[in-house]
Amino acid sequence: MNKEISEAIAHTKPIFERLDEIALHNQKKVIDAFCKNGVALRHFNGTTGYGSDDVGRNTLCSVVADIFGAENAVVSPLIASGTAAITLALFGVLRPNDRVLSVSGRPYDTLTDVIFGEGVGSLRDFGIRFDCVELADNEFDWAAIEQQLKASPTKMVYVQRSRGYSDRAALSLQQIGRLCDFVKKIAPDTIVFCDNCYGEFVEKDEPTAVGADLCAGSFIKNIGGGLAPTGGYVVGRKHLIEQVAGRLTAPSIGMEVGSYQGGYRLFYQGLFVAPHVVNQALKTSVLFSYALGKRGYKVNPCAGAPLSDIVCSVELGSPEKMINFCRAVQSTSPVDGFVEPQPWQQAGYADKVIMAAGCFVEGASIELSCDGPLREPYAVYLQGGLTLEHGILALEKVLESL
Ligand SMILES: *Cc1c(COP(=O)(O)O)cnc(C)c1O
Repeated sequence: MNKEISEAIAHTKPIFERLDEIALHNQKKVIDAFCKNGVALRHFNGTTGYGSDDVGRNTLCSVVADIFGAENAVVSPLIASGTAAITLALFGVLRPNDRVLSVSGRPYDTLTDVIFGEGVGSLRDFGIRFDCVELADNEFDWAAIEQQLKASPTKMVYVQRSRGYSDRAALSLQQIGRLCDFVKKIAPDTIVFCDNCYGEFVEKDEPTAVGADLCAGSFIKNIGGGLAPTGGYVVGRKHLIEQVAGRLTAPSIGMEVGSYQGGYRLFYQGLFVAPHVVNQALKTSVLFSYALGKRGYKVNPCAGAPLSDIVCSVELGSPEKMINFCRAVQSTSPVDGFVEPQPWQQAGYADKVIMAAGCFVEGASIELSCDGPLREPYAVYLQGGLTLEHGILALEKVLESL
């Protein structure tokens, strides 16, 4: 093994031990939820048509709700992506003239049109106001949030746990818990919503277990364990989830309908392996951040910093290095390993994006992948890795390519 890598492994041992403890805790939580809900082979069967009495679908919702310490959940292969899950949650519970306050700055790029777009059926088109308070030095701006909450009625406080394409730390569960307490003290009826993409199983709790009323994410990220073929979830308080279910299908039918002929085994099995897979992805991220930090690149998070998402960014300083980095990762992919990534204009993003993703499930970023917008400071965002061994081999190639 490359010397830089063996040194990285030796130095990150205490971090790995801490990650193993979290994985064990979360694995138990998942198995407890499976047992409590009596998961059995019959739950894996597909259904057709209306999918009335689809016991696989209904049980999957209960299992996810239990894992999240929440009252109820909508989990469905019919939710196309993380953006779709978040959009579903927003349109499910918000009504004309409501106001939303984001307390973690502007939401993730693909939500810009969902919230602010003109004439596309955005929140703005439906008369819903969306204001943003920026984070101040990786912490909530408590004074500004208090002032905003007191200034006008706020239906929802919106928080994004992971950093998206920005240079900040992911928000820890402790910070999110404190936010929930703070908001409820000032405005007890305000819904706290959390974009939980890339956050599942990184810490011992999930946002709904520390006071969030609603949170959403994607099954082709952490929670699907690399096996779920598609889908998303929204989890939270019962009355809110009823509204979300009414938006997913129709207000008169909610979760009474919705079939999936492919069956649910891979959702259950993916959920079962997810705590371990997230552990492997986190270890991969820690090794990259240690080795590239050692080489003098600005990495975020630094190896050893507390983690609350699976993303690691590396500022490379030039488009050429971004392209080389992504090509090195792509060349170790089990699928499409022969492909040379090129920068291109992707729907929902303002700048050109380059992406390395040689995935079994298309676009699944719990599988080892990296991407980034071609703009200053030319940072790549690396995430995922189903096995640590794959992460090590990719890191070896990346170190060679720089
Ligand atoms: C990935 C992501 C999204 C959007 O999810 P897609 O599945 O790409 O639509 C939203 N928010 C954050 C923080 C994300 O990481």
